[in-house]
Amino acid sequence: MATETTTFEIRKTQHSRIAEVDFSNLVFGRSFSDHMLVSIYKDGQWGQNQIIPYGNLSLSPATAALHYGQTIFEGMKAYKSPDGEVLLFRPFDNWKRFNLSAQRMCMPAVPEEIFVGGLQELLRLDSDWVPEGAGQSLYIRPYMFAADEYIGVKASDTYYFVIFTCPVGNYYSKPVKVKVEKEYIRAAEGGVGAAKCGGNYGGSLYPARLAQQQGYDQLIWTDAKEHLYVEESGTMNVMFVIDGRLITPAVSSSILDGVTRKSIIAVGEYWNIPVEQRRVSVDEVIEAAKEGRLDAAFGAGTAAVVSPFSHIAYEDVDYALPELTENSFPVRVKDFLEKLRTGRSEDIFGWNLKV
Ligand SMILES: *Cc1c(COP(=O)(O)O)cnc(C)c1O
Repeated sequence: MATETTTFEIRKTQHSRIAEVDFSNLVFGRSFSDHMLVSIYKDGQWGQNQIIPYGNLSLSPATAALHYGQTIFEGMKAYKSPDGEVLLFRPFDNWKRFNLSAQRMCMPAVPEEIFVGGLQELLRLDSDWVPEGAGQSLYIRPYMFAADEYIGVKASDTYYFVIFTCPVGNYYSKPVKVKVEKEYIRAAEGGVGAAKCGGNYGGSLYPARLAQQQGYDQLIWTDAKEHLYVEESGTMNVMFVIDGRLITPAVSSSILDGVTRKSIIAVGEYWNIPVEQRRVSVDEVIEAAKEGRLDAAFGAGTAAVVSPFSHIAYEDVDYALPELTENSFPVRVKDFLEKLRTGRSEDIFGWNLKV
């Protein structure tokens, strides 16, 4: 918990926009809550901590982040419990990962009292924006970018840290068709794949578009050296259920250490399901699919929680996965996590933080 307190200058909006939002029809990432947090790093320290009305930032065209991509982000969610409490899911894990991303991108760490403490202040102010409908939540976007007005290639001396939030609906998507990608890569060993930095996502758009033109919803990325091992799926971690075992690639310098992934692993272990975190070859997955031993495969990440696959395409052959039932692992684990995060079941792992 916060050891020091940072004071935020709070300026409340005079014109709440909440009445303009159709909470029964929320589109992901399009409506923004009333306030945002902004802290500025300058002369070796964080300061000018403010919580102010959501609005535009005024930046120089020479702002370093816009040119060389020194920018990182997080994605997390808050939920409303049946008694109206606002609950954050594992925020310290996002804070720690943010600072690992910062280190990799040569950026300063953000102290806990700004990241977690400031976020709590922000959510207290905008608690009415945390929706309470089934499957709804408040998506939280903390990010940091290099703010020097300078176009030499170097680590910036000034940074903005910003948090804004968006009420979001149930992200249920029908099971997706994924394609094993063997030409393009998302990340290479020794690169920045383990950091949540902007460039990773910019670089993934083109291969994803090509796959969509071929009729697939999403990609399964393979290793950069040989394209033999599974890495991630789109912007999610990837998990397989083979012969009743939960199997997922071990995290590495090219795989992001997802909070959803590790939560699912913990639940799997709690249910006494054997869990294997190791290198997973494409051949192993395709063999299992051919032999009917691939019970389920899915992406895991904060936005959708789980995104099950209906088909995996490999070398122009589509392998169909079994239809999901209410007993399928991805369905059960999603339900378990949703109940825990919304305070509708006991928080046996101590993952929720009350705002
Ligand atoms: C954010 C992200 C994930 C999922 O992480 P969560 O903490 O579960 O949201 C997985 N892979 C990539 C590449 C990501 O950017």
